[in-house]
Amino acid sequence: MNHPAPEQPADVAARLRHTFRTGRTKPVAWRTGQLRRLRAMLTERGPELAAALHADLGKSAAEARRTEIDFTVREIDHTLDHLDGWLRPEPVPVPAHLGADATAWTQYDPLGVVLVIAPWNYPAQLLLAPLAGALAAGNAVVAKPSELAPATSAALARLLPAYLDTDAVAVVEGGVPETTALLAERFDHIFYTGNGTVGRVVMRAAAEHLTPVTLELGGKSPAFVDRDTDLEVVADRLVRGKFLNAGQTCVAPDYVLTDPETAAALEPALTRAVEDLFGTDPSACGEYGRIVNERHFDRLSGLLGSGRVVVGGGSDRRAKYIAPTVLADVDPDSPVMREEIFGPILPIVTVPDLDAAIAFIGDRDKPLALYVFSESGRTRARIAAETSSGGLGNGLPLAHLTVSDLPFGGVGESGTGSYHGRWSIETFSHRKAVLDKPLR
Ligand code: NAD
Repeated sequence: MNHPAPEQPADVAARLRHTFRTGRTKPVAWRTGQLRRLRAMLTERGPELAAALHADLGKSAAEARRTEIDFTVREIDHTLDHLDGWLRPEPVPVPAHLGADATAWTQYDPLGVVLVIAPWNYPAQLLLAPLAGALAAGNAVVAKPSELAPATSAALARLLPAYLDTDAVAVVEGGVPETTALLAERFDHIFYTGNGTVGRVVMRAAAEHLTPVTLELGGKSPAFVDRDTDLEVVADRLVRGKFLNAGQTCVAPDYVLTDPETAAALEPALTRAVEDLFGTDPSACGEYGRIVNERHFDRLSGLLGSGRVVVGGGSDRRAKYIAPTVLADVDPDSPVMREEIFGPILPIVTVPDLDAAIAFIGDRDKPLALYVFSESGRTRARIAAETSSGGLGNGLPLAHLTVSDLPFGGVGESGTGSYHGRWSIETFSHRKAVLDKPLR
């Protein structure tokens, strides 16, 4: 059978630009219509997507639903509920010298054609949530799923055109060559989620066209555990946040930072929490994921020797399985502390006190998330005031990004820009300044 040659990136961009210029994507009715179609795709074809996510990452059906499908549906529903209000022009006061009849306001204009480049770890959510935001803001969108999650990429390339306006939304599959070819084109915004090395490639390519970028990157997100906290609760929440998706979550707690006595007491609590959640043999537990590929498996295996194994430590390369692992006595200069772990290994690093913890965080790249477990309001306030991170979660890892009204994004090495809810409208629109002075 002859397949038609795939459309070239330049042709895709030109075709979508033509659609945008006709004004088709601007009416709110078109935008909400596309969001409803995207929602229908997620609910009607959810099982297909879940099967693809299982093939790529061993995600259980429940986890795929919770963290990818339902998550995106909620984001769409929130947008549908509020879009009219978000888009309303905002009047601003006019100085007296322009006369009493002059008025001024800001209005949101769509940017044009947006490129969304997604990673492999939440390969559906991290393509579709930015896509929803860009459509809500009235743009045409080229969506590039990650080639490292090939089943999900193929499913999205099949499903999105079946549901959405193909004159305004295109899926381009592929890896480095295809993305490089796309990046040579002029877009009106590039939204990239992934690592900082490629983030730099994206930013350089965007600079050629003065295209604004959002970079949703990663880094080492610390979890500070204070003295005198309920360590059973802390351990349970740390384990749930860390080992979701086998640790391959950009906002997963990367390492625990605490004092030596608390560390000693936390060790058995973490062991109990791992066994409560995954049993004594997590490889047999259907709710525990797998490492995305052999390259990442080998990288992570190399980090297992960075400390004393408290729980876990086992692995199976053929199954791409690494047990949920906690490491103690970890030197801050050891390999596991030199890079974002992005896998199921939780090192415990000790510092003498709060001042040292704040200094430790400040000495390193600004993290995407910072988690604090403390009963002390003063400690929480000090950390909030004296550290910088994309987001701050007191008492519960990961959950801040499910609050649609909070901007989700990094700062410094963990990224630039943000999205979710109305913040997606800010990201994917131009806020145009308008002055109106009657001629008579
Ligand atoms: P990845 O390898 O899937 O890469 C992401 C995208 O970049 C893919 O679409 C890929 O095709 C493209 N790409 C890869 N190399 C490229 C190149 N040389 N030129 C152009 N495009 C290229 O995913 P990844 O980077 O391994 O993702 C993991 C990283 O992403 C981690 O650092 C993680 O913390 C971060 N992350 C951040 C968020 C967030 O929301 N801030 C979410 C998930 C992951």
